[in-house]
Amino acid sequence: MSSSLNAARRARDLERLDAAPAVDLVVVGGGITGVGVALDAATRGLSVVLLEQHDLAFGTSRWSSKLVHGGLRYLGTGDVAVAYESAIERHRLMTTIAPHLIRPLPQVFPLMPTMSPGHAALVRAGHWGGDVLRTVARTPSRLLPRPDRIDAHAVGEYAPAVRREGLRGGLRFWDGQLVDDARLVVAVARTAAHHGATILTRCRAVEASGAGVRVRDELSGTEFDLAARAVVNAAGVWAGGLSDDISLRPSRGTHLVVDQSVFGGLTASLTVPVPGSSTRFVFALPAPLGRVYIGLTDEEAPGPVPDVPVASEAEIDFLLDTINQALARPLNRSALLGTFAGLRPLLAADSGHTADVSRRHVVHRDADGLVTVVGGKLTTYRRMAQDAVDAAVAWSGLCARPCQTRRVPLVGAGDARDPRASPELLRRHGSEAGAVLDIAAGDPIVLHPVAPDLPVSMAELVFAVRHEGALDVDDLLDRRTRIGLVSGDRARARDAAAQAFDLA
Ligand SMILES: Cc1cc2nc3c(=O)[nH]c(=O)nc-3n(C[C@H](O)[C@H](O)[C@H](O)COP(=O)(O)OP(=O)(O)OC[C@H]3O[C@@H](n4cnc5c(N)ncnc54)[C@H](O)[C@@H]3O)c2cc1C
Repeated sequence: MSSSLNAARRARDLERLDAAPAVDLVVVGGGITGVGVALDAATRGLSVVLLEQHDLAFGTSRWSSKLVHGGLRYLGTGDVAVAYESAIERHRLMTTIAPHLIRPLPQVFPLMPTMSPGHAALVRAGHWGGDVLRTVARTPSRLLPRPDRIDAHAVGEYAPAVRREGLRGGLRFWDGQLVDDARLVVAVARTAAHHGATILTRCRAVEASGAGVRVRDELSGTEFDLAARAVVNAAGVWAGGLSDDISLRPSRGTHLVVDQSVFGGLTASLTVPVPGSSTRFVFALPAPLGRVYIGLTDEEAPGPVPDVPVASEAEIDFLLDTINQALARPLNRSALLGTFAGLRPLLAADSGHTADVSRRHVVHRDADGLVTVVGGKLTTYRRMAQDAVDAAVAWSGLCARPCQTRRVPLVGAGDARDPRASPELLRRHGSEAGAVLDIAAGDPIVLHPVAPDLPVSMAELVFAVRHEGALDVDDLLDRRTRIGLVSGDRARARDAAAQAFDLA
Protein backbone atom coordinates (compact mmCIF):
# COMPACT_ATOMS: atom_id res chain seq x y z
CA MET A 1 0.00 0.00 0.00
CA SER A 2 1.16 3.57 -0.64
CA SER A 3 2.84 5.47 2.18
CA SER A 4 1.44 8.78 0.91
CA LEU A 5 -0.78 10.71 3.28
CA ASN A 6 -2.82 13.61 1.90
CA ALA A 7 -6.26 15.23 1.93
CA ALA A 8 -7.65 12.91 -0.78
CA ARG A 9 -6.61 9.77 1.11
CA ARG A 10 -8.07 11.16 4.33
CA ALA A 11 -11.44 11.76 2.58
CA ARG A 12 -11.44 8.24 1.10
CA ASP A 13 -10.56 6.70 4.48
CA LEU A 14 -13.38 8.55 6.23
CA GLU A 15 -15.86 7.39 3.55
CA ARG A 16 -14.69 3.81 4.00
CA LEU A 17 -15.11 4.00 7.77
CA ASP A 18 -18.55 5.51 7.31
CA ALA A 19 -19.55 2.40 5.37
CA ALA A 20 -17.83 -0.07 7.73
CA PRO A 21 -17.05 1.54 11.11
CA ALA A 22 -15.18 -1.33 12.79
CA VAL A 23 -11.49 -2.29 13.02
CA ASP A 24 -9.21 -4.46 15.13
CA LEU A 25 -7.41 -1.62 16.90
CA VAL A 26 -7.86 2.13 17.29
CA VAL A 27 -5.00 4.25 18.58
CA VAL A 28 -5.60 7.75 19.91
CA GLY A 29 -2.74 10.24 19.46
CA GLY A 30 -0.46 11.06 16.55
CA GLY A 31 2.71 11.72 18.54
CA ILE A 32 5.67 9.35 18.40
CA THR A 33 4.00 6.86 20.76
CA GLY A 34 0.73 6.66 18.82
CA VAL A 35 2.32 6.35 15.38
CA GLY A 36 4.64 3.70 16.84
CA VAL A 37 1.61 1.75 18.05
CA ALA A 38 -0.07 2.08 14.63
CA LEU A 39 3.05 0.75 12.89
CA ASP A 40 3.50 -2.08 15.36
CA ALA A 41 -0.13 -3.21 15.07
CA ALA A 42 -0.27 -2.88 11.27
CA THR A 43 2.88 -4.95 10.78
CA ARG A 44 1.36 -7.69 12.95
CA GLY A 45 -1.51 -7.93 10.44
CA LEU A 46 -4.14 -6.01 12.44
CA SER A 47 -6.52 -3.49 10.88
CA VAL A 48 -5.68 -0.16 12.54
CA VAL A 49 -7.04 3.38 12.65
CA LEU A 50 -5.01 6.19 14.24
CA LEU A 51 -6.84 9.33 15.36
CA GLU A 52 -5.01 12.62 15.90
CA GLN A 53 -7.00 15.66 16.95
CA HIS A 54 -4.67 18.19 15.28
CA ASP A 55 -1.69 17.23 13.11
CA LEU A 56 0.98 14.53 13.37
CA ALA A 57 3.56 15.55 16.00
CA PHE A 58 1.33 18.37 17.25
CA GLY A 59 2.10 17.60 20.94
CA THR A 60 5.27 16.97 22.95
CA SER A 61 6.94 14.99 20.17
CA ARG A 62 7.90 18.16 18.26
CA TRP A 63 9.30 19.97 21.31
CA SER A 64 12.02 17.49 22.29
CA SER A 65 15.79 18.04 22.21
CA LYS A 66 15.82 15.78 19.14
CA LEU A 67 18.40 13.42 20.67
CA VAL A 68 18.38 9.66 20.33
CA HIS A 69 19.83 8.92 23.74
CA GLY A 70 21.88 5.89 24.56
CA GLY A 71 20.79 6.16 28.18
CA LEU A 72 23.76 8.02 29.65
CA ARG A 73 21.66 10.41 31.71
CA TYR A 74 19.56 7.55 33.12
CA LEU A 75 22.72 5.91 34.41
CA GLY A 76 23.27 9.12 36.35
CA THR A 77 19.89 8.73 38.07
CA GLY A 78 20.35 5.00 38.66
CA ASP A 79 17.67 3.95 36.14
CA VAL A 80 19.78 1.12 34.69
CA ALA A 81 16.86 -0.67 33.00
CA VAL A 82 15.77 2.53 31.22
CA ALA A 83 19.39 3.23 30.25
CA TYR A 84 19.79 -0.28 28.79
CA GLU A 85 16.51 -0.05 26.87
CA SER A 86 17.57 3.33 25.45
CA ALA A 87 20.91 1.97 24.25
CA ILE A 88 19.23 -0.98 22.51
CA GLU A 89 16.61 1.21 20.84
CA ARG A 90 19.22 3.80 19.80
CA HIS A 91 21.13 1.00 18.11
CA ARG A 92 18.07 -0.19 16.19
CA LEU A 93 17.13 3.33 15.13
CA MET A 94 20.63 4.26 13.98
CA THR A 95 21.37 1.04 12.14
CA THR A 96 18.09 -0.29 10.73
CA ILE A 97 14.98 1.75 11.38
CA ALA A 98 15.88 5.36 10.61
CA PRO A 99 19.60 5.75 9.88
CA HIS A 100 18.85 8.55 7.41
CA LEU A 101 17.25 10.75 10.08
CA ILE A 102 19.92 10.29 12.78
CA ARG A 103 23.58 11.21 12.83
CA PRO A 104 26.30 10.71 15.42
CA LEU A 105 26.72 13.88 17.47
CA PRO A 106 29.79 14.60 19.59
CA GLN A 107 28.95 16.02 23.00
CA VAL A 108 31.76 18.17 24.34
CA PHE A 109 32.11 19.02 28.04
CA PRO A 110 34.64 21.87 28.28
CA LEU A 111 36.88 21.42 31.32
CA MET A 112 36.48 24.96 32.59
CA PRO A 113 38.51 26.33 35.50
CA THR A 114 35.35 26.26 37.64
CA MET A 115 34.88 22.51 37.10
CA SER A 116 36.44 20.58 39.98
CA PRO A 117 38.56 17.50 39.23
CA GLY A 118 36.00 15.44 41.18
CA HIS A 119 33.16 16.62 38.98
CA ALA A 120 35.19 15.99 35.83
CA ALA A 121 35.96 12.47 37.07
CA LEU A 122 32.25 11.88 37.64
CA VAL A 123 31.40 13.00 34.10
CA ARG A 124 34.15 10.78 32.75
CA ALA A 125 32.89 7.78 34.71
CA GLY A 126 29.41 8.42 33.32
CA HIS A 127 30.84 8.48 29.80
CA TRP A 128 32.52 5.15 30.31
CA GLY A 129 29.29 3.73 31.71
CA GLY A 130 27.50 5.01 28.61
CA ASP A 131 30.14 3.34 26.47
CA VAL A 132 29.53 0.02 28.22
CA LEU A 133 25.87 0.38 27.23
CA ARG A 134 26.94 1.07 23.62
CA THR A 135 29.05 -2.08 23.67
CA VAL A 136 26.26 -4.16 25.19
CA ALA A 137 23.87 -2.88 22.51
CA ARG A 138 26.50 -3.84 19.90
CA THR A 139 26.63 -0.39 18.35
CA PRO A 140 29.97 -0.31 16.53
CA SER A 141 32.55 2.30 17.56
CA ARG A 142 32.86 3.32 13.90
CA LEU A 143 29.25 4.60 14.24
CA LEU A 144 29.53 6.00 17.77
CA PRO A 145 33.19 6.40 18.73
CA ARG A 146 34.43 5.73 22.24
CA PRO A 147 34.49 8.63 24.70
CA ASP A 148 37.81 10.41 25.09
CA ARG A 149 39.54 13.52 26.29
CA ILE A 150 40.33 16.27 23.79
CA ASP A 151 42.62 19.29 24.04
CA ALA A 152 41.54 22.91 24.30
CA HIS A 153 42.23 23.51 20.60
CA ALA A 154 39.84 20.69 19.61
CA VAL A 155 37.17 22.08 21.96
CA GLY A 156 37.56 25.43 20.16
CA GLU A 157 37.22 23.72 16.77
CA TYR A 158 33.89 22.20 17.80
CA ALA A 159 32.66 25.27 19.67
CA PRO A 160 34.44 28.44 18.50
CA ALA A 161 32.50 30.64 20.94
CA VAL A 162 33.81 28.83 24.01
CA ARG A 163 35.85 30.76 26.59
CA ARG A 164 39.52 29.80 26.33
CA GLU A 165 41.02 31.27 29.54
CA GLY A 166 41.94 28.41 31.84
CA LEU A 167 40.31 25.83 29.55
CA ARG A 168 41.90 22.44 30.31
CA GLY A 169 40.49 20.69 27.24
CA GLY A 170 37.27 18.76 27.14
CA LEU A 171 35.58 15.40 27.51
CA ARG A 172 33.95 14.03 24.37
CA PHE A 173 31.08 11.55 24.21
CA TRP A 174 28.97 10.44 21.21
CA ASP A 175 25.22 10.03 20.95
CA GLY A 176 22.52 10.17 18.24
CA GLN A 177 20.88 13.36 16.94
CA LEU A 178 17.70 13.46 14.88
CA VAL A 179 17.47 15.86 11.98
CA ASP A 180 14.09 16.67 13.51
CA ASP A 181 11.66 14.93 15.87
CA ALA A 182 8.51 15.82 13.90
CA ARG A 183 10.03 14.28 10.78
CA LEU A 184 10.56 11.03 12.69
CA VAL A 185 6.88 11.02 13.67
CA VAL A 186 5.77 11.62 10.08
CA ALA A 187 8.10 8.89 8.79
CA VAL A 188 6.72 6.35 11.31
CA ALA A 189 3.12 7.35 10.43
CA ARG A 190 3.76 6.97 6.69
CA THR A 191 5.44 3.62 7.25
CA ALA A 192 2.38 2.51 9.21
CA ALA A 193 0.19 3.71 6.32
CA HIS A 194 2.36 1.70 3.92
CA HIS A 195 1.62 -1.38 6.03
CA GLY A 196 -2.10 -0.69 5.87
CA ALA A 197 -2.85 1.57 8.85
CA THR A 198 -5.40 4.36 8.41
CA ILE A 199 -3.94 7.63 9.68
CA LEU A 200 -6.53 10.34 10.32
CA THR A 201 -5.46 13.79 11.44
CA ARG A 202 -8.00 16.43 12.55
CA CYS A 203 -10.01 13.58 14.09
CA ARG A 204 -10.54 13.77 17.84
CA ALA A 205 -11.49 10.92 20.13
CA VAL A 206 -14.27 12.52 22.13
CA GLU A 207 -14.78 9.38 24.24
CA ALA A 208 -12.95 6.07 24.32
CA SER A 209 -13.37 2.65 25.91
CA GLY A 210 -11.91 -0.77 25.19
CA ALA A 211 -14.73 -1.38 22.70
CA GLY A 212 -14.46 1.71 20.55
CA VAL A 213 -14.24 5.44 20.17
CA ARG A 214 -16.58 8.35 19.50
CA VAL A 215 -14.81 10.39 16.82
CA ARG A 216 -15.26 14.02 15.82
CA ASP A 217 -13.98 15.08 12.41
CA GLU A 218 -12.60 18.50 13.35
CA LEU A 219 -12.79 19.72 9.74
CA SER A 220 -16.44 18.89 9.06
CA GLY A 221 -17.72 18.86 12.66
CA THR A 222 -19.45 15.50 12.13
CA GLU A 223 -19.25 12.75 14.75
CA PHE A 224 -19.37 8.98 14.36
CA ASP A 225 -18.72 5.82 16.37
CA LEU A 226 -15.85 3.51 15.52
CA ALA A 227 -15.98 0.00 17.01
CA ALA A 228 -12.74 -1.82 17.83
CA ARG A 229 -11.56 -5.01 19.49
CA ALA A 230 -8.90 -2.95 21.28
CA VAL A 231 -8.26 0.77 21.84
CA VAL A 232 -4.89 2.24 22.80
CA ASN A 233 -4.75 5.67 24.40
CA ALA A 234 -1.44 7.27 23.37
CA ALA A 235 -2.53 10.84 23.99
CA GLY A 236 0.64 11.87 25.90
CA VAL A 237 0.04 14.65 28.44
CA TRP A 238 -3.64 14.58 27.44
CA ALA A 239 -4.02 10.84 28.25
CA GLY A 240 -5.83 11.57 31.53
CA GLY A 241 -8.66 13.16 29.52
CA LEU A 242 -9.63 9.72 28.20
CA SER A 243 -8.89 7.57 31.25
CA ASP A 244 -9.82 8.40 34.85
CA ASP A 245 -7.16 5.95 36.03
CA ILE A 246 -4.30 7.96 34.55
CA SER A 247 -2.86 10.82 36.56
CA LEU A 248 0.06 12.73 35.10
CA ARG A 249 2.46 15.24 36.49
CA PRO A 250 3.67 17.16 33.44
CA SER A 251 7.05 18.82 33.56
CA ARG A 252 7.96 21.59 31.13
CA GLY A 253 11.20 21.57 29.20
CA THR A 254 12.25 24.73 27.37
CA HIS A 255 14.77 25.43 24.62
CA LEU A 256 16.03 28.72 23.22
CA VAL A 257 16.67 29.23 19.50
CA VAL A 258 19.65 31.36 18.43
CA ASP A 259 21.53 31.86 15.17
CA GLN A 260 24.57 29.67 14.44
CA SER A 261 26.64 32.83 13.90
CA VAL A 262 26.35 33.52 17.64
CA PHE A 263 28.28 30.28 18.28
CA GLY A 264 30.65 30.81 15.34
CA GLY A 265 29.69 27.50 13.70
CA LEU A 266 28.95 24.97 16.46
CA THR A 267 29.44 21.34 15.35
CA ALA A 268 29.04 19.50 18.67
CA SER A 269 26.68 19.60 21.60
CA LEU A 270 28.36 22.06 23.97
CA THR A 271 27.45 20.66 27.38
CA VAL A 272 27.72 22.75 30.54
CA PRO A 273 26.92 21.59 34.09
CA VAL A 274 24.08 23.22 36.01
CA PRO A 275 25.66 24.81 39.08
CA GLY A 276 25.06 22.72 42.17
CA SER A 277 24.11 19.51 40.30
CA SER A 278 26.34 16.66 39.20
CA THR A 279 23.75 15.10 36.87
CA ARG A 280 22.07 18.07 35.16
CA PHE A 281 23.48 19.94 32.20
CA VAL A 282 22.51 22.67 29.77
CA PHE A 283 23.56 22.08 26.19
CA ALA A 284 23.77 24.03 22.96
CA LEU A 285 22.94 21.84 19.97
CA PRO A 286 23.66 22.56 16.30
CA ALA A 287 20.29 22.52 14.52
CA PRO A 288 19.01 22.72 10.93
CA LEU A 289 18.35 26.01 9.09
CA GLY A 290 21.47 27.62 10.58
CA ARG A 291 20.21 27.59 14.13
CA VAL A 292 21.35 26.44 17.58
CA TYR A 293 18.97 25.14 20.26
CA ILE A 294 19.90 25.77 23.91
CA GLY A 295 18.16 23.51 26.42
CA LEU A 296 16.91 22.19 28.73
CA THR A 297 14.80 23.03 31.75
CA ASP A 298 12.69 20.74 33.92
CA GLU A 299 9.88 22.66 35.61
CA GLU A 300 6.77 21.35 37.29
CA ALA A 301 3.79 22.42 35.13
CA PRO A 302 0.58 21.92 37.12
CA GLY A 303 -2.87 23.02 35.96
CA PRO A 304 -4.71 22.68 32.65
CA VAL A 305 -2.60 21.31 29.79
CA PRO A 306 -2.13 24.00 27.12
CA ASP A 307 -2.16 23.10 23.40
CA VAL A 308 1.19 24.86 22.98
CA PRO A 309 3.26 25.37 26.16
CA VAL A 310 5.20 28.61 26.57
CA ALA A 311 8.65 29.19 28.10
CA SER A 312 8.73 31.21 31.32
CA GLU A 313 10.99 34.23 31.81
CA ALA A 314 12.79 32.37 34.63
CA GLU A 315 13.58 29.43 32.33
CA ILE A 316 15.04 31.77 29.71
CA ASP A 317 17.26 33.42 32.33
CA PHE A 318 18.35 30.03 33.70
CA LEU A 319 19.36 28.72 30.27
CA LEU A 320 21.26 31.90 29.32
CA ASP A 321 23.03 32.10 32.70
CA THR A 322 24.12 28.46 32.55
CA ILE A 323 25.38 28.38 28.96
CA ASN A 324 27.11 31.75 29.43
CA GLN A 325 29.49 30.15 31.95
CA ALA A 326 31.23 28.52 29.01
CA LEU A 327 31.14 31.36 26.45
CA ALA A 328 33.78 33.99 25.76
CA ARG A 329 31.06 36.55 25.00
CA PRO A 330 27.94 36.03 27.08
CA LEU A 331 24.61 35.87 25.26
CA ASN A 332 21.77 38.12 26.24
CA ARG A 333 18.12 38.18 25.27
CA SER A 334 18.80 40.16 22.09
CA ALA A 335 20.39 36.97 20.66
CA LEU A 336 17.14 35.02 20.93
CA LEU A 337 15.35 34.18 17.68
CA GLY A 338 12.67 32.20 19.48
CA THR A 339 11.92 29.70 22.23
CA PHE A 340 10.00 26.42 22.39
CA ALA A 341 8.66 24.39 25.28
CA GLY A 342 7.13 20.93 25.69
CA LEU A 343 5.51 18.96 28.48
CA ARG A 344 6.93 15.61 29.53
CA PRO A 345 4.15 13.10 30.21
CA LEU A 346 5.49 11.93 33.58
CA LEU A 347 3.48 9.74 35.93
CA ALA A 348 2.03 11.37 39.04
CA ALA A 349 2.91 8.35 41.19
CA ASP A 350 6.52 9.49 41.42
CA SER A 351 7.42 12.07 44.05
CA GLY A 352 10.35 14.50 44.32
CA HIS A 353 11.62 16.98 41.71
CA THR A 354 10.38 16.22 38.18
CA ALA A 355 14.01 16.05 36.98
CA ASP A 356 14.40 12.94 39.14
CA VAL A 357 11.15 11.24 38.08
CA SER A 358 11.77 8.05 36.12
CA ARG A 359 11.42 8.17 32.32
CA ARG A 360 10.11 4.60 32.25
CA HIS A 361 6.83 3.97 30.44
CA VAL A 362 3.75 2.18 31.71
CA VAL A 363 0.98 0.25 30.02
CA HIS A 364 -2.28 0.34 31.94
CA ARG A 365 -5.71 -1.23 31.34
CA ASP A 366 -8.89 0.46 32.59
CA ALA A 367 -11.82 -1.61 33.85
CA ASP A 368 -13.60 -0.96 30.51
CA GLY A 369 -10.63 -2.36 28.59
CA LEU A 370 -9.04 0.92 27.36
CA VAL A 371 -5.26 0.43 27.19
CA THR A 372 -3.10 3.50 27.95
CA VAL A 373 0.60 3.74 27.16
CA VAL A 374 2.36 6.75 28.61
CA GLY A 375 5.73 8.03 29.82
CA GLY A 376 8.95 6.93 28.19
CA LYS A 377 10.61 9.05 25.55
CA LEU A 378 11.13 9.49 21.85
CA THR A 379 14.11 7.13 21.72
CA THR A 380 12.15 4.21 23.16
CA TYR A 381 8.90 4.70 21.21
CA ARG A 382 9.29 1.36 19.39
CA ARG A 383 9.54 -0.60 22.62
CA MET A 384 6.62 1.34 24.15
CA ALA A 385 4.53 0.47 21.11
CA GLN A 386 5.53 -3.19 21.28
CA ASP A 387 4.53 -3.41 24.96
CA ALA A 388 1.22 -1.60 24.34
CA VAL A 389 0.23 -3.82 21.41
CA ASP A 390 1.32 -6.98 23.26
CA ALA A 391 -0.98 -5.95 26.12
CA ALA A 392 -3.87 -4.96 23.84
CA VAL A 393 -3.65 -8.27 21.97
CA ALA A 394 -3.43 -10.34 25.14
CA TRP A 395 -6.30 -8.54 26.85
CA SER A 396 -8.64 -8.43 23.82
CA GLY A 397 -7.97 -11.94 22.50
CA LEU A 398 -7.06 -10.56 19.05
CA CYS A 399 -5.07 -12.90 16.85
CA ALA A 400 -1.83 -11.22 15.74
CA ARG A 401 1.73 -12.01 14.71
CA PRO A 402 4.52 -11.25 17.20
CA CYS A 403 6.12 -7.80 17.04
CA GLN A 404 7.95 -7.14 13.75
CA THR A 405 9.23 -3.58 14.12
CA ARG A 406 12.81 -4.32 15.15
CA ARG A 407 13.46 -5.05 11.51
CA VAL A 408 11.11 -2.61 9.74
CA PRO A 409 12.94 0.35 8.16
CA LEU A 410 10.99 3.61 7.90
CA VAL A 411 10.17 5.28 4.58
CA GLY A 412 13.33 6.98 3.33
CA ALA A 413 15.68 4.55 5.09
CA GLY A 414 16.87 2.95 1.84
CA ASP A 415 19.89 3.82 -0.30
CA ALA A 416 20.23 7.61 -0.02
CA ARG A 417 23.03 8.33 -2.46
CA ASP A 418 21.20 10.44 -5.05
CA PRO A 419 24.04 12.56 -6.51
CA ARG A 420 21.63 15.42 -7.29
CA ALA A 421 20.60 15.88 -3.66
CA SER A 422 22.23 18.24 -1.15
CA PRO A 423 23.37 16.77 2.19
CA GLU A 424 20.51 18.67 3.93
CA LEU A 425 17.89 17.21 1.59
CA LEU A 426 19.32 13.72 2.11
CA ARG A 427 19.22 14.18 5.88
CA ARG A 428 15.57 15.20 5.77
CA HIS A 429 14.34 12.75 3.12
CA GLY A 430 16.86 9.91 2.81
CA SER A 431 16.12 7.72 -0.17
CA GLU A 432 13.08 9.86 -1.02
CA ALA A 433 15.28 12.88 -1.83
CA GLY A 434 15.14 11.92 -5.52
CA ALA A 435 11.34 11.96 -5.45
CA VAL A 436 11.45 15.46 -3.96
CA LEU A 437 13.80 16.63 -6.71
CA ASP A 438 11.60 15.04 -9.38
CA ILE A 439 8.80 17.42 -8.38
CA ALA A 440 10.91 20.18 -9.90
CA ALA A 441 11.21 18.46 -13.29
CA GLY A 442 11.05 21.22 -15.93
CA ASP A 443 10.93 24.03 -13.36
CA PRO A 444 14.24 24.38 -11.49
CA ILE A 445 12.95 27.46 -9.64
CA VAL A 446 10.97 25.05 -7.49
CA LEU A 447 14.29 23.95 -5.99
CA HIS A 448 15.31 27.44 -4.87
CA PRO A 449 15.02 28.29 -1.17
CA VAL A 450 11.55 29.54 -0.27
CA ALA A 451 13.17 32.71 1.13
CA PRO A 452 16.75 34.02 1.34
CA ASP A 453 18.80 32.05 3.91
CA LEU A 454 16.00 29.51 4.41
CA PRO A 455 17.30 26.36 2.73
CA VAL A 456 13.93 24.65 2.27
CA SER A 457 12.61 24.42 -1.29
CA MET A 458 9.11 24.72 -2.73
CA ALA A 459 9.59 21.13 -3.95
CA GLU A 460 9.85 19.96 -0.31
CA LEU A 461 6.68 21.83 0.62
CA VAL A 462 4.80 20.32 -2.34
CA PHE A 463 6.13 16.86 -1.38
CA ALA A 464 4.81 17.40 2.16
CA VAL A 465 1.33 18.22 0.81
CA ARG A 466 1.26 15.29 -1.62
CA HIS A 467 2.87 12.63 0.57
CA GLU A 468 3.43 13.72 4.20
CA GLY A 469 -0.12 14.58 5.24
CA ALA A 470 0.29 18.38 5.49
CA LEU A 471 -3.23 19.82 5.36
CA ASP A 472 -2.55 23.51 5.96
CA VAL A 473 0.16 26.17 6.10
CA ASP A 474 0.84 25.57 9.81
CA ASP A 475 1.48 21.87 9.16
CA LEU A 476 4.12 22.90 6.60
CA LEU A 477 5.81 25.62 8.65
CA ASP A 478 5.57 24.10 12.13
CA ARG A 479 5.89 20.33 11.66
CA ARG A 480 6.99 19.18 8.15
CA THR A 481 9.65 21.89 8.36
CA ARG A 482 10.64 23.86 11.48
CA ILE A 483 10.71 27.24 9.76
CA GLY A 484 8.01 28.41 12.17
CA LEU A 485 10.28 28.19 15.24
CA VAL A 486 11.46 31.69 14.30
CA SER A 487 8.58 34.09 13.79
CA GLY A 488 10.44 36.27 11.28
CA ASP A 489 11.27 33.22 9.15
CA ARG A 490 7.66 32.06 9.42
CA ALA A 491 6.44 35.38 8.02
CA ARG A 492 8.94 35.24 5.14
CA ALA A 493 7.91 31.68 4.17
CA ARG A 494 4.16 31.99 4.63
CA ASP A 495 3.25 32.90 1.03
CA ALA A 496 5.41 30.08 -0.33
CA ALA A 497 3.68 27.60 1.99
CA ALA A 498 0.27 28.77 0.82
CA GLN A 499 1.41 28.48 -2.81
CA ALA A 500 2.55 24.87 -2.23
CA PHE A 501 -1.12 23.84 -1.90
CA ASP A 502 -1.89 25.35 -5.35
CA LEU A 503 1.10 23.58 -6.92
CA ALA A 504 0.30 20.22 -5.29
C1 LIG B 1 11.47 19.42 26.39
C2 LIG B 1 11.55 17.94 26.12
C3 LIG B 1 12.70 17.40 25.57
C4 LIG B 1 12.76 16.05 25.28
N1 LIG B 1 13.86 15.56 24.66
C5 LIG B 1 13.91 14.26 24.34
C6 LIG B 1 15.02 13.77 23.61
O1 LIG B 1 15.93 14.50 23.24
N2 LIG B 1 15.04 12.44 23.32
C7 LIG B 1 14.04 11.61 23.71
O2 LIG B 1 14.14 10.42 23.43
N3 LIG B 1 12.94 12.06 24.35
C8 LIG B 1 12.85 13.37 24.66
N4 LIG B 1 11.75 13.86 25.30
C9 LIG B 1 10.62 12.96 25.59
C10 LIG B 1 9.71 12.81 24.37
O3 LIG B 1 9.66 14.00 23.61
C11 LIG B 1 8.30 12.42 24.80
O4 LIG B 1 8.36 11.36 25.71
C12 LIG B 1 7.45 11.99 23.61
O5 LIG B 1 7.53 12.93 22.56
C13 LIG B 1 6.01 11.79 24.01
O6 LIG B 1 5.30 11.40 22.86
P1 LIG B 1 3.78 10.98 22.91
O7 LIG B 1 3.42 10.49 21.57
O8 LIG B 1 3.57 10.07 24.06
O9 LIG B 1 3.01 12.34 23.24
P2 LIG B 1 2.67 13.54 22.25
O10 LIG B 1 3.75 13.80 21.30
O11 LIG B 1 2.23 14.68 23.10
O12 LIG B 1 1.45 13.01 21.41
C14 LIG B 1 0.14 12.93 21.91
C15 LIG B 1 -0.81 13.31 20.78
O13 LIG B 1 -2.12 12.96 21.14
C16 LIG B 1 -3.00 13.90 20.57
N5 LIG B 1 -4.26 13.83 21.31
C17 LIG B 1 -4.48 14.12 22.60
N6 LIG B 1 -5.77 13.88 22.93
C18 LIG B 1 -6.37 13.41 21.82
C19 LIG B 1 -7.71 13.00 21.53
N7 LIG B 1 -8.66 13.02 22.46
N8 LIG B 1 -7.99 12.59 20.26
C20 LIG B 1 -7.03 12.57 19.31
N9 LIG B 1 -5.75 12.97 19.53
C21 LIG B 1 -5.43 13.37 20.78
C22 LIG B 1 -2.26 15.22 20.75
O14 LIG B 1 -2.73 16.22 19.86
C23 LIG B 1 -0.81 14.80 20.49
O15 LIG B 1 -0.42 15.01 19.14
C24 LIG B 1 11.67 15.21 25.59
C25 LIG B 1 10.51 15.76 26.17
C26 LIG B 1 10.45 17.11 26.42
C27 LIG B 1 9.21 17.70 27.01
